[in-house]
Amino acid sequence: MRVIHFSGLAILALVRSSVAAAVQSNESSFSADAARYRWAPGTVISYKGSPDFRQATERWDIYKPPTYSVAITPAVEADVATAVKLARQQKVPLLATGGRHGISTTLAKMQGGVAIDLSKLNSISIDKKAVTITVGPGVRFGDVYEPLYKAGFQIQTGTATCPGMIGVTLGGGIGRLDGLQGLVLDALVSARIVLANGTLLEVSKTSNPDLFWGVQGAGQNFGVVTSATYKVQPLYKGGIWTSVDLIVPIEKNLSYFKAVSGMLPMPADLTVQTTAVYNTTLKRTQLLSSLVYAGPKEAGLKAMAPILNLGPFPFQNVSTLALDKLNENAMFQANAAICVKQQIFDVYGFNLKTFDVPTMVSVVRKMSDFFDTQPAARKSALLLETWPNQAVMAVPDDATAYPWRDATTYGRGLIEEIRQIELRWDTPGDPVEAAANSLGRDVRAALAATSGYGNLTVYVNYAWGDESLESIYGAKKLPRLARLKAQYDPSNVFQFYHALPTSYP
Ligand SMILES: Cc1cc2nc3c(=O)[nH]c(=O)nc-3n(C[C@H](O)[C@H](O)[C@H](O)COP(=O)(O)OP(=O)(O)OC[C@H]3O[C@@H](n4cnc5c(N)ncnc54)[C@H](O)[C@@H]3O)c2cc1C
Repeated sequence: MRVIHFSGLAILALVRSSVAAAVQSNESSFSADAARYRWAPGTVISYKGSPDFRQATERWDIYKPPTYSVAITPAVEADVATAVKLARQQKVPLLATGGRHGISTTLAKMQGGVAIDLSKLNSISIDKKAVTITVGPGVRFGDVYEPLYKAGFQIQTGTATCPGMIGVTLGGGIGRLDGLQGLVLDALVSARIVLANGTLLEVSKTSNPDLFWGVQGAGQNFGVVTSATYKVQPLYKGGIWTSVDLIVPIEKNLSYFKAVSGMLPMPADLTVQTTAVYNTTLKRTQLLSSLVYAGPKEAGLKAMAPILNLGPFPFQNVSTLALDKLNENAMFQANAAICVKQQIFDVYGFNLKTFDVPTMVSVVRKMSDFFDTQPAARKSALLLETWPNQAVMAVPDDATAYPWRDATTYGRGLIEEIRQIELRWDTPGDPVEAAANSLGRDVRAALAATSGYGNLTVYVNYAWGDESLESIYGAKKLPRLARLKAQYDPSNVFQFYHALPTSYP
């Protein structure tokens, strides 16, 4: 097995061990072709079984993962283009990887191809004058909090520190600043993208604006984004946030969900995250509630009063956090555990416009029954992210390909809630998988039925992989997206993430 580190034009080939004959012959032909290209110092080509390969391909979710024979880890943007050209010349499928936190089962359609591991392209530069940040595709959310905070700025991100910033942006990017600043993709000013033919394009409102539109919501389909520039904002209220964690016993489900429902539309500076989990000590289902407010404690507790008034709770913790430490510490400090690599996560997602209390109670009961009968899957959870969306809705629907910001269309200006069912077990192949998938589809269907959308709709980055294109991208956006796909990736090179068609309908 071989790992090739490129040092200038010199190729250092390390023969490590032998592998199956078939792989070996692919490897020889691949490395022979790879040697014909000029690679920058630091770019690494590694093959299955080597430590470099493991490092370049290790994922967060190992449920239905993509697999590779070769990984290319470019050290510079130009080598991304070279990697694309090489994979195409070899006629092997390719998949770019950013934070490697993709949860879609469509990624499993990639088997035995080339991983273009973007982790070394991890530069961050803040331009105080332009009020922007430019990041490489190897940057994770957790990398930008501190430098931005120290410079007096903030940007909307997801809630965990570990997903790739650009990878998340390409689908939307939802989180605790949705109400104040919008989706992560709403902050995008421009991006550089390597197309299937290896050419590099800049996309922005003024440069290739049509592709820029498509990148903002379906961006995994057109090329490899090698850098992205976002607008940032001055720290809101000095960057001080209030976080409250509560354990809500199952007896209070109904009053809890009524309180959440009564708070809608959620104020722009308040978010509520509810997780139905199994408590192994008490041997019963309970709700974990994470309330987060952008501002100091007194105002925060006032905004959260409809839920706090349901107390006392068996556990209640109030903390004041600086924004750069918020996502590590909010929600029961779950971030560290959430970000552990190589776990099984079988995730069903769906969007809701309306918060139907009887449905909430009924799906928590379904989860509870599941925990009772399936002990192997007691790490599973139903996660309800009740985000405000004032700033998301302030952006015109046709400004980007992201399809689910139009919640006001359905009346009363309720929030758009993105929800997930995370089904989990420890051992690949465990018989609990069939029961878990059946529950996932059942709970998703129950929530979709009262979602206010009339049918299942799902944020692309939370989609399982069995949903219709319309459920993911929205029927209205699909014709334009298909035209872009036909123009920029007619051979469907970028096909492993809820692939767009080249014509629609
Ligand atoms: C623990 C966890 C927490 C999450 N929290 C949130 C959240 O708070 N908010 C939210 O919106 N989403 C969240 N997500 C979902 C997240 O948006 C998606 O999983 C996203 O695809 C992760 O991107 P990645 O780069 O880490 O993953 P990858 O697996 O590296 O990539 C996913 C897909 O994007 C493509 N891609 C990645 N980078 C590029 C690039 N530079 N150019 C072209 N294509 C690229 C890949 O080819 C692949 O098809 C979370 C996921 C996890 C696992």
